[in-house]
Formats: sequence, C-alpha cells, structure tokens
Amino acid sequence: MFEAPINRIRIDALLPTVLGEGTLIEWEVDDKYQTRRLEFAVIWGRSPTDNFQKVGATRDTWLVDSVERRQGTDTEVYYAIVVRDRDTNEQWKSQLQRSGSNWSKLHWRIAREAVRQWNVRLTRGAVSGTRGYLVKRRNYGDPCPECVDPTTGKVQKADCVSCYGTGVDGGYYPATETIVDQNPDKMQRRLTTEGALKERISTWQVLAFPRFEPNDFWVDAAQDLRYKIQSQVETVGHVAGVPIVQRVQVDLMERNHPIYAFPVADDG
Ligand SMILES: [Zn+2]
Repeated sequence: MFEAPINRIRIDALLPTVLGEGTLIEWEVDDKYQTRRLEFAVIWGRSPTDNFQKVGATRDTWLVDSVERRQGTDTEVYYAIVVRDRDTNEQWKSQLQRSGSNWSKLHWRIAREAVRQWNVRLTRGAVSGTRGYLVKRRNYGDPCPECVDPTTGKVQKADCVSCYGTGVDGGYYPATETIVDQNPDKMQRRLTTEGALKERISTWQVLAFPRFEPNDFWVDAAQDLRYKIQSQVETVGHVAGVPIVQRVQVDLMERNHPIYAFPVADDG
C-alpha cells in the first residue's frame, strides 16, 4: 500500500457535546483526490508495531472514538486511516498519528468547569448570549450530482440547492445548537478590492465545542441572519493545549446567498 491521499491528521480530546464524548480524529483529503469517492476506516493500536484494530468507518473526514483506550500503564494510543476508493477499490494506509490528547482526570474537570461557567455566564449572567446554530461545511464528500461537471470537477451553479455552491453533495452538516457571545463585537465596515462592500464584520467569542472553522456558518435563530466564519479564528482559553473558548470573525451574508436556503431546526 502507498501513502494515503490524506494530509493532516488531528487528534483532540472532546468534551461532552452533541458530538459525544471521547477522542475526535480529523483528517484532510489531499487536493488531488477531492473528486474521488473515498471512504475511510480509522484503526488504532498501542504501539507502531501493534496489531491495529478498527475503530469505525465513515465517508466524512472525522470520527469520534468514544472508547477510553488508555488503561493503567498503557497510555500510548496510535491512530491511522485506511482509505478506499469506492470506484476503483484502490486502498491506502496513512502514516500513524500518536494521540496528542493526554488529558488527565484533572484536565477533564478543569475543561468541564470552564464549559459550565461559559454557559452560566451567557444564560444567567450579566452578559446575554445569543442562541443559534453552527452549520459546519463539509470539507470533503461526494461531488454534487446536480451541479458538478464530472470531467472538470467544476461547480456549474453558484445557487445550487443540493450543495449550496460548495460542490460537495449536501454542502454542510446538520446544524448544531450553540450559544455565542456577540458582545466583544465592534461593528466595522470593510473595504474590499471591489470598493466599499456593505459587509459588517463582527468579532464574537464562542465555545470551541463544536469547533468553529473558516467557511462554517452561524445562524441567528430568532432573526434568521446567517454569518460566515472568517479565516481569523483565535484561541482565547485553552486547557492543556486544547481550545475551550475561541474568538471568531464573522461576516453577515446578504439575503441572496445560497446559505439562506439551508434548513436549520427552527425552519418549519
Ligand atoms: Zn450542487
């Protein structure tokens, strides 16, 4: 087997959230393989020479391992990704990645408390949080059957209702409810190469579970305003290197943006 067509593997502790609790394993598909229909299996072992066992399989680029693998003196955990092309049946195995998440019981307690305080502050404290939904973009998936040219891989319709202009079938993962702190916000107007584009840029603080990443969207449920997460995502609070609170820059999208067609829970 050759080296797998995936680049970075990231492994993080995962607090109790809608995703579950455990270890989050994420990877990126190499650009050259974006239009292939791939599926992935995550395997794990205690050492590079161990007999690796399967954790699970997925067509997404992340998986949660909800089993605590570290037991007693066996504290090393390695993961790898086995990639299969569903059309050609080619298979690859990635490099091993040692789990960077070595949270002790104390780390978990500190992180849980930080999350609890965050929720208390925004629901019962002096600062009032805004409820809404995080809509995470699918970074990889089957090409959209409606609008992607099968030979060139190019998106044909920016307002496609199957992929919302992303070119990936479905476009986004189902929305997850989150509460954000819009108060650090300083409204600005931004000058772009096209002149004074009427874009409002805001900076918010958000909990890092689930993680906000560039090109994701956040939906203000009450007003149905849809904001795009910009490239600037900073960690403002962390526990043992794992982000707990992030500061994100967002842009309010115009009403004609295809993301307004994406359904969230409050839609009828
Ligand atoms: Zn499409």
